[in-house]
Amino acid sequence: MVVGDIATGTEVLVIGAGPGGYVAAIRAAQNGLDTTLVEKDAYGGTCLNYGCIPSKALITGADLAHEAGNAEEMGIHADPVVDMSQLRDWKNGVVDQLTGGVEKLCKANGVNLVEGTARFKDENAVRIAHGGEGQGSETIEFEHCIIATGSRVIQIPGFDFGDEPVWSSRDALEADTVPERLVVVGGGYIGMELSTTFAKLGADVTVVEMLDDILPGYESDVARVVRKRAEDLGIDMHFGEGASGWRDEDDGIMVTTETEDGEENEYRADKVLVAVGRSPVTDTMDIESAGLEADDRGFLSVDECRRTDVEHIYAVGDVVEDTPMLAHVASKEGIVAAEHIAGEPVAFDSQAVPAAVFTDPEIGTVGMTEADAEEAGFTPVVGQMPFRASGRALTTNHADGFVRVVADEESGFVLGAQIVGPEASELIAELAFAIEMGATLEDVASTIHTHPTLAEAVMEAAENALGQAIHTLNR
Ligand SMILES: Cc1cc2nc3c(=O)[nH]c(=O)nc-3n(C[C@H](O)[C@H](O)[C@H](O)COP(=O)(O)OP(=O)(O)OC[C@H]3O[C@@H](n4cnc5c(N)ncnc54)[C@H](O)[C@@H]3O)c2cc1C
Repeated sequence: MVVGDIATGTEVLVIGAGPGGYVAAIRAAQNGLDTTLVEKDAYGGTCLNYGCIPSKALITGADLAHEAGNAEEMGIHADPVVDMSQLRDWKNGVVDQLTGGVEKLCKANGVNLVEGTARFKDENAVRIAHGGEGQGSETIEFEHCIIATGSRVIQIPGFDFGDEPVWSSRDALEADTVPERLVVVGGGYIGMELSTTFAKLGADVTVVEMLDDILPGYESDVARVVRKRAEDLGIDMHFGEGASGWRDEDDGIMVTTETEDGEENEYRADKVLVAVGRSPVTDTMDIESAGLEADDRGFLSVDECRRTDVEHIYAVGDVVEDTPMLAHVASKEGIVAAEHIAGEPVAFDSQAVPAAVFTDPEIGTVGMTEADAEEAGFTPVVGQMPFRASGRALTTNHADGFVRVVADEESGFVLGAQIVGPEASELIAELAFAIEMGATLEDVASTIHTHPTLAEAVMEAAENALGQAIHTLNR
């Protein structure tokens, strides 16, 4: 122990107060365990402060302005002016409300909150360095530990986030003006959500992506609907190009890219947003002192209860290998870890993990695609309902996309779904629930859905798989 250290003990120590860590801490405390939560920056982690919540707040603002300014067809004529710094203040207000709520909830549930940076001393203790000079440090001994330290943005050569024109997603979300020209490096979900947002706010957006399509990991017909809309919004997309650097110009900057064949291209911009992914934060905690080892990309491997190789140390959220880096996954894993420590018979079942992309239109997916189902040995039956056949979609003036349901032909069990279209992020919940409950196509199709709603398209897709659809032709 260093001079000035105070040593305390806790049954459960949670490191990191993002959606993995704070949820784990609350659940551990609800189970009667003496729980301490350490956070070095802000309650709510990436999700509440620099990710899910601020991005969705900005998307709402951009959508509202864009909708209002593009509704002549409905007889609405407006030319909205967006005050970016006011929009940012409103977004920050939402963030503050939620992060304050997390702190209050932790306290109300009896979680001990400690502000500082944790490093392992050994497999039963961490040292917490409190922020700022002269703030001191303390040692906390634990019986169980849950690592929930999340992830950070990946930086690429030639683009230093310290340079003013180079934006990370966090910088983009803090912008108080809209750049005239924005180059976005990376066509993944964060790159596409922010491209769409800034295009709607009036920026001239160019996306450069190394692969041959946007949204890797999503089926091509799903990505196509988003790509088409992005084109309609004026977003210029270039595939098969990797960003190699940038330089100052008299008028802004020039971003350079290179194809696999060595061909160089240049794009003028005022800002360049680098959104090429995130890597786990496991390299700043001396995990080796606790007997832990990360893989070569920094991820920790865990069992179905989220236990690492050191049995009383658990890991949840973005630091975990082989599960998607998503807030709801982190929270679920946090609950599993906390309940397992409390002695509950729990496990993480990743059969039905939904995911959403908040582009225009949105994407919602859960479970298996048709190809996944075939690979897993099922004979899949697929039903699809286009939103252009949905009365409610037409009344919202957003009728691009479809609902697709994948089921096992023999048993009728729903195996997966892909939705691209209005409110896909909300609609997917019904099909996640269907999979979780072991529902069949019949169950979904015979459930009365309110009219007129977008959810009717889910019912109709199930009917289509059964050859019983009314509002679309059966396959
Ligand atoms: C722009 C953007 C948009 C996103 N949108 C979505 C979305 O729409 N939906 C979705 O599901 N996901 C989204 N995500 C991903 C989501 O934010 C993450 O998956 C989620 O935050 C992971 O939660 P976590 O608890 O594992 O880690 P984090 O939220 O990253 O929290 C980790 C916490 O640990 C703290 N910490 C780290 N090291 C230490 C230490 N040594 N000592 C003490 N504290 C420490 C950090 O300060 C941080 O607060 C988005 C991410 C970004 C960047």
